[in-house]
Amino acid sequence: MNVLVIGRGGREHSLVQKFAESDDVMTVYVAPGNEGMVEGMPVPIMERDIDGLIEFVKENGIDWTFVGPEQPLMDGIVDAFEREGLKIFGPTEAAARIEGSKAYAKQLMKEAGIPSASYEAFDDYEEAVSYLQKQPLPIVIKADGLAAGKGVVIVQTFDQGKAVLEDMLLNNGFGVAGQSVVIEEFLEGEEFSLHAFVNGSAVYPLLPAQDHKRVFDGDEGPNTGGMGAYAPVPHLSVDDIQAALQGVVQPMAEKMEQEGHPFKGVLYAGLIVTRDGVKVIEFNARFGDPETQVLLPLLETDLVTVLDHVERKQPLTLAWKDATCMGVVVAAKGYPGPYEKDIEIPALFTEDTFLIHAATKRMINRYMSDGGRVLLVGSVAKSLQEARANVYRHLDSASFRDRFHYRTDIGARALKASAF
Ligand code: ATP
Repeated sequence: MNVLVIGRGGREHSLVQKFAESDDVMTVYVAPGNEGMVEGMPVPIMERDIDGLIEFVKENGIDWTFVGPEQPLMDGIVDAFEREGLKIFGPTEAAARIEGSKAYAKQLMKEAGIPSASYEAFDDYEEAVSYLQKQPLPIVIKADGLAAGKGVVIVQTFDQGKAVLEDMLLNNGFGVAGQSVVIEEFLEGEEFSLHAFVNGSAVYPLLPAQDHKRVFDGDEGPNTGGMGAYAPVPHLSVDDIQAALQGVVQPMAEKMEQEGHPFKGVLYAGLIVTRDGVKVIEFNARFGDPETQVLLPLLETDLVTVLDHVERKQPLTLAWKDATCMGVVVAAKGYPGPYEKDIEIPALFTEDTFLIHAATKRMINRYMSDGGRVLLVGSVAKSLQEARANVYRHLDSASFRDRFHYRTDIGARALKASAF
C-alpha cells in the first residue's frame, strides 16, 4: 500500500521512517516534507491545501493518510477526507477542539472529573481582572486558542497579569486565539506526557515520554517547540502511569464519545505529577514533537498494523523494545528568536545514533539548515545513561556545537532522580 504523511518537521520524518519499515508499505509520500526525508517521497503540497491533498490521494492510490500537525486538523481535513470516502488518521474538526480551545478542554475535564488545575474562563476584561485580583500568585493565563506555545503566561504579580489580560482581551495581541482566556491555578511538579492511539472509547497507550520545552540548560529561557525528549520516563511510578491512563486518557476518550464528538487519532495528555497526584496541563490532538522521535523508534509493532486495529477498534497490545530512546534537538543559533539560516549540517554517520531532519534542505551533496529546529540526534540503547552518552559523544565531536545550539542536559534530571 501507499501512505501519505502530512507535515514537514521532525515528527513527520519519524513517521515517514516508521511507515517505510512496514512490509505492507510500498511508498511513503510526505506533503510537503523536507529534503532530508530520504525514506519518503516529498510532494510539494502544503499542509493546509486540503483540496490539493485530496486530489493527490485520489490520483496516487494512497491507502492511508496520517496527519502530523494540528493546523490541518483544526481546518477540518479529516472531515473533508471522510466525506470523500478516503482513509485518514486524525480527529475531526469537532474532536480536535480538545486542543484548539483550552476552555472547551477544561470544561470537558471538569464534567468528566479529570484532575486538572482549577480555573475560570473569560472573554470580558473587567470580569477577568476582578477574578485575578482574588487569586493567589503565581497564576497562569492562557489564550483560549492555538498560539504555538506562546499563549501561556505564568504571572508573578497582579500588575503583570493585568497587562497580559489587557494584551489578550483588549488589544487583540493574540488575535482570535486570545479573544477569550483561561485563568488557572499554578501547578508544581514533574511534567511528562502520555500519548495514546484512540478510536472512540478504544484506547491503545504508548510509553510515557518527557520533553524539554525551555531553550537553555536548567530549564531556563523562553519556551520552544521542544529541545529534546526521552522515553520511557524512569522516575515515574507505576501508580503515576496508571493514574494518567485510567484517570485521564481513558475517561477523556469516553467523555468525548458521550459528547457526540468521538476522538480518532493520537491523543496527547500533557501531565504533571503534583503533591496531590497526576493532573492535566493540556491535551493535544496529535503526536508531540519531539516526543514522536523518541517513541516511534521503540515501537516494535508495525505502524500500519496499529492503524488497522485502531480503525476497527480491535484489541492490540503495542509491543515495545526493552530499551530507552533519547533525542536532542539541534537548533539554529538565536532560536526561538530571530536565528541564523543556511548553515551547513556536519555529516554524522554512526552505528549507535539516528538522525531526524526537521528543517533541512539539500544543496548538491550537502544538507543545509532551513529553519529554527533543524535536526534531532537520537539513540536507542539499553539505558537512558547509554543513550545519552551516545548522543552527546557524537554531537560534541562533530562540530555541531560551533554551528548550532543544543541543550547539554537532556535526560540529566531523570538520571539524577532515578539514582535515589
Ligand atoms: P504547546 O506548545 O505544548 O501546545 P500550549 O501553548 O498548548 O503549549 P500549555 O502546554 O498549556 O501551552 O503550557 C505550556 C507550558 O506552560 C507547560 O508545558 C507548562 O510548563 C506551563 N504550564 C501550563 N499550565 C500550567 C499550570 N497550570 N501550572 C504550571 N505550569 C503550567
